[in-house]
Amino acid sequence: MASPEVSDEDLVARFPGEPITHDNAAQYRGRLRRELLMNRCEDCGRWHAPAKPVCPDCWSWRVSAEPVSGDGEIYLAIFLHRGPDAPGVDYSTPYPVVTVELAEQEGLRFTSTVVGAGNDAIRIGAPVSLTWIDRAGVPLPVFELRDPR
Ligand SMILES: [Zn+2]
Repeated sequence: MASPEVSDEDLVARFPGEPITHDNAAQYRGRLRRELLMNRCEDCGRWHAPAKPVCPDCWSWRVSAEPVSGDGEIYLAIFLHRGPDAPGVDYSTPYPVVTVELAEQEGLRFTSTVVGAGNDAIRIGAPVSLTWIDRAGVPLPVFELRDPR
């Protein structure tokens, strides 16, 4: 049974400072359920991110948010030594930011951080899985290494 949808006002209040729009609101609602959603075209089947109202491949308007597995490989990794104050972010380690190419489709990528691994173990091409942490009172999708060393 589907849980009642969070209102637009509640959604914006739960994610202060996040750029919530009509196009990506479903993704944020998914986060509250610990479900990583990406937009997918109902006509050609292609996934795309960031969320857009029209499929960039076939221009169909029949686009809907669907869950992805969250499995993938690290495509890009950067380590932040400085940045704006943010809850749960420690720049002294420094703080890792990774873009993961998701298993669903070549070029479908999601950017977050890695938990449970030292920065030396975070490498391009490393297989990762999705997991969730709580940050600032809401679930945050993050990645963990599938083969931690
Ligand atoms: Zn399409």
